[in-house]
Amino acid sequence: MPKNAFHIGQSEVQRLVSDQIVFSENLFIKRDDLIHPVVSGNKWRKLKYHIDTAQKLGKTHLVSFGGAFSNHMAALACSGAVLGLKTSCFIRGDEFESKSNHFLFLAQLYGMQLIPVERELYKSHKSELFHTHFGSDEQALMIEEGGAGDEGERGVSELIFELPFVPDHIVHASATATTAAGLIKGLMNRKGFEKTRVHSMAVLKNGAEQTSKLQLLESEIDWLVHEADMGGYAKYNPQLLRFIEAFTANTGILIDPVYTGKALYGINELMRDGTINSTETVVFLHTGGMLGLFSDYYVNAFGKK
Ligand SMILES: *Cc1c(COP(=O)(O)O)cnc(C)c1O
Repeated sequence: MPKNAFHIGQSEVQRLVSDQIVFSENLFIKRDDLIHPVVSGNKWRKLKYHIDTAQKLGKTHLVSFGGAFSNHMAALACSGAVLGLKTSCFIRGDEFESKSNHFLFLAQLYGMQLIPVERELYKSHKSELFHTHFGSDEQALMIEEGGAGDEGERGVSELIFELPFVPDHIVHASATATTAAGLIKGLMNRKGFEKTRVHSMAVLKNGAEQTSKLQLLESEIDWLVHEADMGGYAKYNPQLLRFIEAFTANTGILIDPVYTGKALYGINELMRDGTINSTETVVFLHTGGMLGLFSDYYVNAFGKK
């Protein structure tokens, strides 16, 4: 029986004035980080229609995949608990061994079953893993890592319909380009938004892959993938940490070094090199995912400086 429902409305678009951004006269921030403390940002958008599909098919067990520091895993675990659905997640093994962390702690608290898997197996045998463990469970539905796929893109595309004006640019943190594809689809679907440009800030070294994925959309929308990884996924430099500290103290808005911190830091480069100019309107999409900020790895790094 379905239990509680998420009553998640639209997220606000706020003016963003920050001393840390080159020019912020026409800068706005869409606060998807405020959607929910754990099921935040694009992870909720990407899960929404997967959950919808599960409920339509009468599936009561959601199975997915994630690293030990996965916002998707935590979001799925919490959603399952709220909606009365069982959840399981395959976790990349070597990270699981490396010691428990607050993501895994939360996932278990929400009642998720965690299954550590060796890295090679995890990488290339996802559907086999699902079939081996849950092939006989008719209630089980497999959800792609990160909530990718058409359902994920559709969920993200809806946020375009929440924008109160037509921006010249949308900037966001990008990893698998599912969010980017959703934004592009939303712009294609909403009348009058065809001229808005999407800037996807690649937070890991897979910009070329992201570009190929987006090319498949063959859309008229103007989009660009920019390098913003600072050496790789979850890597950082002292400038990024100082930027995050100053921005947070100056605006009261939390950003993290894995995703939104890097993307916002990267906006400055786009403003300096003229990709974005000061007369244009920019919406920065805050994709949420604050848990990453509280990893020991970063807490210690900020402490040291
Ligand atoms: C997962 C995540 C992203 C990346 O989204 P993709 O759809 O994989 O590109 C960006 N920001 C945050 C906070 C995330 O958790």
